[in-house]
Amino acid sequence: MMPEPAQISDLCADCRHDLEHCHGTAIVHVDGLADCSDDPGCRLPAALHLFVISCADVGCDCRPDSVLPTEQARAS
Ligand SMILES: [Zn+2]
Ligand SMILES: [Zn+2]
Ligand SMILES: [Zn+2]
Repeated sequence: MMPEPAQISDLCADCRHDLEHCHGTAIVHVDGLADCSDDPGCRLPAALHLFVISCADVGCDCRPDSVLPTEQARAS
């Protein structure tokens, strides 16, 4: 039996194309790493999420001034 068209249209475009993606919200930290708010085990990059927010919006304590510039470490 064929699935109803209504059920297919319930999926997002990425689902229909069987692409790797996540329906959760990616929380991007200042170091560029992203956490998934919906699935702790999610390993997908922020770009593959439906929503992307800054970690500062959720009260994360990592801040830009806590990241040291790498140029100082390279000075010889
Ligand atoms: Zn989807
Ligand atoms: Zn953070
Ligand atoms: Zn995710």
